Amino acid sequence: KVKNAHQPEFLQAAEEIFLSLTPVFEQHPEYIQHNILSRMVEPDRIISFRVTWQDDYNQVQVNRGYRVQFSNVVGPYKGGLRFHPSVNESIMKFLAFEQVFKNTLTGLPIGGAKGGSDFNPKGKSNSEIMRFCQAFMTELYRHIGADVDVPAGDMGVGAREIGYLFGQYKRIRNAHEAGVLTGKTPGYGGSLVRKEATGYGLVYFVEEMLRDINETFLNKTVVVSGSGNVAIYAIEKAQDLGAKVVACSDSNGYIFDPEGIDLNIVKEIKEVKSDRIQTYVDYRPNATYTEGFQGIWSIPCDIALPCATQNEIDGDSARTLLANGVKVVAEGANMPSNLEAINVFLENGILFGPAKAANAGGVATSALEMAQNSGRYYWTFEEVDEKLQEIMKNIYVKSKEAAFKYGSPGNLVVGSNIAAFVKVADGLITEGVY
Ligand code: NDP
Repeated sequence: KVKNAHQPEFLQAAEEIFLSLTPVFEQHPEYIQHNILSRMVEPDRIISFRVTWQDDYNQVQVNRGYRVQFSNVVGPYKGGLRFHPSVNESIMKFLAFEQVFKNTLTGLPIGGAKGGSDFNPKGKSNSEIMRFCQAFMTELYRHIGADVDVPAGDMGVGAREIGYLFGQYKRIRNAHEAGVLTGKTPGYGGSLVRKEATGYGLVYFVEEMLRDINETFLNKTVVVSGSGNVAIYAIEKAQDLGAKVVACSDSNGYIFDPEGIDLNIVKEIKEVKSDRIQTYVDYRPNATYTEGFQGIWSIPCDIALPCATQNEIDGDSARTLLANGVKVVAEGANMPSNLEAINVFLENGILFGPAKAANAGGVATSALEMAQNSGRYYWTFEEVDEKLQEIMKNIYVKSKEAAFKYGSPGNLVVGSNIAAFVKVADGLITEGVY
């Protein structure tokens, strides 16, 4: 805590995991003997670098880039790149730390990393985005590789940015090393279903949670925060399964559509026009828009899927959801619920799907993209989707079984933390001290 006192997000992520581990140490004193906890919270390395680029007015701009390579015990470092003005070392470390556990849960051979920049893509022209991506890769290339570290997208980094990053990587290395980045455009090394994977995977995970209480998505009222990549495809799959999704948001505010959100309009606003969610009401006069993103949690629903950003649900929002009768909360974003909110859910019998389990579908499909790249072939949409469903089901079962084995039946926070921890800890012991 003292060493990382200036990194609140990282401390929060580490604390959430540590709180789950007491029963593991009671049963496995060898983890104490091997000093596993101290080894696990220290990243293998943190790379930070200057990114210098020229804007459309020929002004030279400077941003800071990061890559936190946290652990490669289970496989090559793997994790997204985030371009957002809030990016700092604490946020990069928390995301990379979570990624180690999440990636382990997928059962696929991938370690954990995260990276990005405090560059703000909002309002930038396409040329500026391209020049920034090229400048960013001009430094990042020396730290990554298909068997070393495989970045992907995250907030502010989609297929367009990955395309520019990949183009620059190829130019510098003179090699078509497709497996060096994931989230590429299908047909240019990308996997089908990668775009949909985190949102779809989240809904598949919730389907498993519901199955255990003999329920389904059919006719459930759902609230999804955000309106980016994860949110859009969570809405799509929930609607496919018969749910009524009544609200979504962006960082300015949220829309409520009592008849159920028309997803084509949201896609038009966000994916085509890159506009604000507020404009949804221009298309649907019965819908309402409210300023302020946190108010979305005051809308009564059966299932809440936070898919925007970290710490978007605090204790008060959690209590409001509870008072309004929410049955299931599952995290599409990384760490959207703070510790107080998680406790409110767990202490009041709400089924809670933590991010590292519930949103692992994106990175799992990235690992499937790596497999296709090294095999030099493509699977069909149906093949990848089927594998994704299988992976989400396995993550659910693994987390549930670990929770049961270590004395917290039904608690998927404890279960997912322990299932992942044990795998990484055993790897550290197997591979010796280094
Ligand atoms: P996008 O950049 O595509 O979308 C983010 C969305 O969240 C935007 O609608 C953004 O609105 C909104 N948002 C940002 N901050 C807030 C806020 N404070 N309140 C409400 N809305 C907000 O990102 P993704 O959808 O890719 O990522 C969303 C979350 O999911 C992140 O936590 C990410 O780490 C996590 N995640 C993503 C994966 C992926 O495959 N993409 C995989 C696993 C996790 P605005 O336009 O106003 O900024």
